[in-house]
Amino acid sequence: MTIVKNSIATLHYTLKDDAGEILDVADENNPFLYMHGVGGMIPGLEQALESGKAGDNIVVSIEPAAAYGERNPSLTQDVPRDMFGNIPDEEMVVGAQFQAQTDQGVEIITVAAIDGDTIKIDGNHPMAGETLHFNVDILDVRDATEEEISHGHPHGPGGHQH
Ligand SMILES: [Zn+2]
Repeated sequence: MTIVKNSIATLHYTLKDDAGEILDVADENNPFLYMHGVGGMIPGLEQALESGKAGDNIVVSIEPAAAYGERNPSLTQDVPRDMFGNIPDEEMVVGAQFQAQTDQGVEIITVAAIDGDTIKIDGNHPMAGETLHFNVDILDVRDATEEEISHGHPHGPGGHQH
């Protein structure tokens, strides 16, 4: 069985950046399940996995345009410390990430700089602008169940997880 639209694939992968630093790992402790062709993962990786089958090893580098996009400088802005009123100082550090409710839904913002009571926040995806280097092992490919198709996401071995 090969990966086509609505396939459920189980993957192990290692994701590295240009510097070779590991950004993310899915291994036997937390295998990654996804449904193919429903926009649930970055386009470059979907494309690389299309027609793959169990046992395949896929090594692919994905440019930002097919991953999380280029960095958008206009998503950076200065906001008053008050906006983070309930967050203690020890958690307000450069690199800290918070969920923020925006017009586009819940987004992750990153603290880019702190200057007194002014916090520079960055609304870019943390991996925006990065070329992503994946080494993927396809462990399993199966058809989605009708329930999974209607939900648009995979359910784990133990049933519904969302
Ligand atoms: Zn569901």
